[in-house]
Amino acid sequence: MHVDPNEIVTHLVGLKDVRVLYYARRGPVGEIAIEQVHVDPRCPSCEGPTRVKDRPVVAYTDLPFAGVPMTILWKKHRLVCTNPECVVKSFTRGDHRIAASGCMLTTRAAKWVVREIGSGQHISHLAKTLNTSWDSVNTAMRRYGQALISADTKRLKETTAIGLDETLFVREGAFKHKHWSTTVCDVVNNQLIDVIPTRDFSEVARWLHDQPEHVRARLEYGCLDMSRTYNAVFKVVTPKATRVIDRFHVMRHALLALDECRRRVQQVQLGHRGRSGEPLYKARKLLVIKATANDPQLQARLEGLLALGDPDGEVALAYGVKEAVARFYETTDAERATDLLRDIIDQCAKKSSPPELRKLSHTLRNWFDQITAWHHARVSNGPTEGMNNLLKRVKRVAFGFTNFENFRIRALLYAGKPNFRLLDSIVVR
Ligand SMILES: [Zn+2]
Repeated sequence: MHVDPNEIVTHLVGLKDVRVLYYARRGPVGEIAIEQVHVDPRCPSCEGPTRVKDRPVVAYTDLPFAGVPMTILWKKHRLVCTNPECVVKSFTRGDHRIAASGCMLTTRAAKWVVREIGSGQHISHLAKTLNTSWDSVNTAMRRYGQALISADTKRLKETTAIGLDETLFVREGAFKHKHWSTTVCDVVNNQLIDVIPTRDFSEVARWLHDQPEHVRARLEYGCLDMSRTYNAVFKVVTPKATRVIDRFHVMRHALLALDECRRRVQQVQLGHRGRSGEPLYKARKLLVIKATANDPQLQARLEGLLALGDPDGEVALAYGVKEAVARFYETTDAERATDLLRDIIDQCAKKSSPPELRKLSHTLRNWFDQITAWHHARVSNGPTEGMNNLLKRVKRVAFGFTNFENFRIRALLYAGKPNFRLLDSIVVR
């Protein structure tokens, strides 16, 4: 294939002062050597005349050209000031249009990396495509991503509901020490606003408190999982916002109670954990899926299995409660929904109820106001279930990042919907 190195350089920067020294093919990689033509360069300190001391060559990874990974060999000029009184001894001419200092990728390759990470690509995949190291790609992602996130100031300004959620971002070291962070989401527009490197009250409260007053004043809803910390943060910093627990978190507790109940009954009945072929083990999917409630055939199958494995009807009761919680969310009338939740709590709290349901009744009672607030919030276009999908996206990138800032930038590029058009005008020196 014929390669015109001048054409590549025109693609690269379109800079008039860049001269191509040569193009060569080294195995699978194309190599272009360039040099900048400086007319009478001046000392940055005294603006006096300079002379060239030497010309070190620095290699940068560029975007592949016609499928061939490219290396730019940039012959830089190291200059010395000729003024004997000047404090500047020597300096190297950089050019942020070609590559930022300390970044091993060219500027256009680095910006491409940021866009690719934003669309869900992995760093290792990008490193392979560019024929460079994971670290080089990560550094480019971090520096240009950080610049984009900082420049994109619009993200927080117009939401009426934010959600706080804890995210495990890494298990570190031999003891798999857990590091927790707090994600702040705009639950109206379904985007990640920020990630805070802790889940402690004071730090999270400070983050919220540090937001401009008009941003805090606009918040109608503060969404949380069943966390006392986040509940306290909203209560103290944005007392006028209604605190809401998302449907997903409540359903998860109901499902957990059902699952724990099934396991316990199974253990008591059989003396061991569930194995395939046994009735309660066979029932475990039917207990969870939504379809069972609306399909007489599945319903009959479940009843048959429970008749065999659940002689005291405990699992059946827990299943009924889970379905009732689902009905609570399908009830559109807020008042009727509140009555239904009260009934569920009373039912679970009975002395005759399985221990898992009694525990659930405590949880539901403790968070009664925040759970019932969901029905009011929903009608005013408040929190949506989309938030849960968003958090899943964040959590998918979380594991394995030992460095918090790396994780934060990557999560924001991936789930924060930054305005990628700003990248064109962003300068990293
Ligand atoms: Zn000087």
